[in-house]
Amino acid sequence: MFQLTRFMSIFLNEVTITLSDSVLIIGAGVAGMTAAVELADSGIKVILVDRQPTIGGNALELYKAFPTDDCFYCFEGNSWRPGIRKCFYRSAMIDQPNIDLMINTEVSEISGLPGKFKAKLSIGPMYVDPKKCIMCGLCLEYSGAFKLISPQCQPQSVTYEPAKAEEGDKKAEEECPTKAIDLSAQQTEEIVEVSDIVVATGFHEMQPVDVDEYGYGQYPNVITQLELARILDPNGSSGGALLRPSDGIQVKNVMMVQCVGSRDENYYAYCSKICCVFALKHANIMTAERNGIQTTVVYMDMRTYDRHERYYREARESGIRFVRGRIRLVEPQEDGTIDITVYDSLLDKYLKYSMDLLVLSSALEPPVGSSEIIKSLGLKSASGYIGPADVVSENEVIAGDHVYVCGTASGPVEVPESVTQARAVVSKILQERK
Ligand SMILES: Cc1cc2nc3c(=O)[nH]c(=O)nc-3n(C[C@H](O)[C@H](O)[C@H](O)COP(=O)(O)OP(=O)(O)OC[C@H]3O[C@@H](n4cnc5c(N)ncnc54)[C@H](O)[C@@H]3O)c2cc1C
Ligand code: SF4
Ligand code: SF4
Repeated sequence: MFQLTRFMSIFLNEVTITLSDSVLIIGAGVAGMTAAVELADSGIKVILVDRQPTIGGNALELYKAFPTDDCFYCFEGNSWRPGIRKCFYRSAMIDQPNIDLMINTEVSEISGLPGKFKAKLSIGPMYVDPKKCIMCGLCLEYSGAFKLISPQCQPQSVTYEPAKAEEGDKKAEEECPTKAIDLSAQQTEEIVEVSDIVVATGFHEMQPVDVDEYGYGQYPNVITQLELARILDPNGSSGGALLRPSDGIQVKNVMMVQCVGSRDENYYAYCSKICCVFALKHANIMTAERNGIQTTVVYMDMRTYDRHERYYREARESGIRFVRGRIRLVEPQEDGTIDITVYDSLLDKYLKYSMDLLVLSSALEPPVGSSEIIKSLGLKSASGYIGPADVVSENEVIAGDHVYVCGTASGPVEVPESVTQARAVVSKILQERK
């Protein structure tokens, strides 16, 4: 029987909630959202937490998705982005009464026993109340500290970054038509008791600042694949036009380099699995949708697993160039172009190219905080990601007793695999309760 008791503890700003039989999901990306909706639809109470002010995780910024080339924007229309179809998962986060969605929230401590965990949640500060914000945009006019993360953010609300505080903040607080802003908001804590924990904390794209040969972080025209996805996005700052970050000039030539930080003992020894496919996806989009852009891909091996081989075939047929080798030298020029020297291992020759943009297929790494979760729940680590509890059966979604993992929290996987794993977790939890 589901019970709810909420009482103030002796600590200021700390609330304890007992939700017997409910499930705590850490991370509201594709995997966490899928698990949340399917558990909730099966009548199970879910507490879904995400450290970000919006749900959606990395998929929020990816424009088109392999394997279907559908747009990632499956989201209901609003005044900022009219006419978009409604996404089942994201709208369910708000509408499904069995889901308690907590954004800006992290799990700071886990104690208790399997089947009866206690998780301490650190919430906020919630400077903007998402239930009150109507996205009128007034505060954005007064101060750069207020931000619209994305037109399809959920909850539909602007956010406030205190590090960018400006004079106009106070005026925005006073004039907000719904009184949604509270600049004096403080962090609060809650302790929840749950029977199961699902870790869906996803991945982070490595910032290759230490990989000296590419000059990332020094040269503005050297970017990562995730940054390229944001530029190609019609909702991005250039409206989808591929412009050089240094001077806004139209890009004509792009070089991509694979395995940056992956398959490299100095960084991550593993293959990040999906970066060959998303590099090809971006190369194909640029060829098909952005007139006249010539793309060259420098690779060690092209690993287009499973059904994604078609992206490689399409890329070859459409004239995208492939060079097997490694980049040796990156030299930015005064006119904004970059001279790139590549060692071609098939020709055994050094080749020199002039490019507008260099895109790094950077390693996908575990997000900050993964090792703490692994430690506090006594889980196995697999290259920093969460490994299966039983290495013999290798059931990839069972991470411990009453602890499950899905999506990229267990290593790089695509969206369909993340969804399949989330559904496997739901099925395991339902079987446990029979
Ligand atoms: C450039 C690029 C292009 C891609 N293109 C495609 C594509 O076309 N098709 C495709 O299928 N896949 C693609 N992918 C892969 C896709 O992004 C992932 O499969 C998908 O986002 C995984 O979802 P997830 O829920 O596992 O993780 P994430 O999207 O990473 O979500 C994890 C969530 O957990 C939250 N979180 C993390 N740690 C904590 C914590 N300690 N406490 C609270 N919250 C936390 C994060 O804020 C985040 O919201 C691409 C990836 C990249 C980098
Ligand atoms: S002024 Fe208030 S309601 Fe309008 S966008 Fe800002 S926070 Fe939201
Ligand atoms: S998927 Fe491709 S780019 Fe990514 S690490 Fe593996 S081989 Fe390198």
